[in-house]
Amino acid sequence: MVKRGFAAVFADLDEARRGWLTGWPALDPLSGAFPRKRVVHAGMGGGARPEADPAGTFVAATTAGADPPVLPDTCMAYVHIPFCRTRCTYCQFYLAPHHADVEDAYIDLLLQEFAQTERQVRRWPRPCSAVYLGGGTPSDLTPRNLERLFAGIRRHLPLRNDAEITLEGRLSGYGDDRHEVALVGGANRFSFGVQSFDTGVRRRLGRIQDGDAVAVRLTELARRRDAIIACDLIYGLPGQDRACWQRDLETLGRCAIDGVSTYQLNLFQRSPLHRAVADGRVDRPATTAEQAGYFRDAEAFFAANGFQRLQCSHFASSRMERSLYNAASKGSAWVMPFGAGAGGFWGGRMFMHYQDLAAWRTAVTEGRKPVGMAIRQSQLQERQRRIGERLENTQRLSWSWLDAVAEADARGTYGALFRGWETHALARLDTHGLELLEAGRFWVANLAQALCDAIAIECEGCIPSDLQPRAGVEIAAQG
Ligand code: SF4
Repeated sequence: MVKRGFAAVFADLDEARRGWLTGWPALDPLSGAFPRKRVVHAGMGGGARPEADPAGTFVAATTAGADPPVLPDTCMAYVHIPFCRTRCTYCQFYLAPHHADVEDAYIDLLLQEFAQTERQVRRWPRPCSAVYLGGGTPSDLTPRNLERLFAGIRRHLPLRNDAEITLEGRLSGYGDDRHEVALVGGANRFSFGVQSFDTGVRRRLGRIQDGDAVAVRLTELARRRDAIIACDLIYGLPGQDRACWQRDLETLGRCAIDGVSTYQLNLFQRSPLHRAVADGRVDRPATTAEQAGYFRDAEAFFAANGFQRLQCSHFASSRMERSLYNAASKGSAWVMPFGAGAGGFWGGRMFMHYQDLAAWRTAVTEGRKPVGMAIRQSQLQERQRRIGERLENTQRLSWSWLDAVAEADARGTYGALFRGWETHALARLDTHGLELLEAGRFWVANLAQALCDAIAIECEGCIPSDLQPRAGVEIAAQG
């Protein structure tokens, strides 16, 4: 059978499928170019192959003499601390409740995993540019365990001397004792999940601390000027309206921290919040179209207050903030995972550690890398990762860069797609490349996914079966 390229397939697509690629005409493209968000992160399709022996695959991929497909620009590490004192209602990452005795034993084994991996990985192709301690709530670790953990990181990971080392967490219970230990241990960036400064909105999410107290503590930490302080805010939350969101932004500005991510609420189907909304126990959150207004408020606030955009949803107010881990972890970097439930990417494979604490513990105790799943990435997926990262980080694609990644005359091959984006006010095209407009930045995940699909159609000659929203899988219908 003769393989049909993207242009031929696109010409035959019905209106519904074509719209998921190009967007639809709308009076206000920001709120109306798509009916909803199609994916949380672009990519994922295109020939992923689970490996039969995940731990053996890890050893082969990380041992000297392995033949990696393409050397990475950046190598990083992700360390997972899977405990939280309470569960936030919107969260799908919560794994285990926090207990002091469990924490001590977990850190003992994590240090063992560091030591074992150092023996297995004879060389990193690049020194380690960033370490991200995520969770869970790593900032809840006792000062003693923070000290032990940072000592292990310094001892076992081949850190660059300018490595970004981020401790993620929440401000409730995060006192000066923990902060001093983390600083002495080498942490130079702190990322706190604030979500909202409005106490009523916070309580609906299961956040314990009063919003004013959060702002005071954030300001204190920022004033020390001894590390980068960043936080996350979420818009479209139950009980939050545009006026409340504006107050959140203004409070954030007064805290004078270095960086902020603003995320739209994704109502994940497995989250307690989804159940509460379905049962009518809390107000419905904003629809995706309504979230567009919050996005516009945030862009206007950051532009007016001198913030610099680092990613579509991350802004910096100081030159110190690089957000290196977040910028590179979903694209071109190799990420070494540590801890139960950690995920990483190394030598063309994605690795997922056992989420189950008992399975993780058994593997580490027996001296095995606790990899529960390894997936070989296809060449197509490699391209998709790089494109998604580029759009998110620069909001631009130059034709020359895209030609090289897609191994094609991209402007000619995918011209119908890009013209659709231009027609629907999602992107601007010029002789050098394309640049996302305001609506394109809001719908960036849909656009990145559309380009991934177009490349899959061109390379594999078939229409992805899920050329429609994956709402039933990841994101509950928000309308
Ligand atoms: S602290 Fe973070 S990981 Fe823990 S439940 Fe809340 S959002 Fe989820």
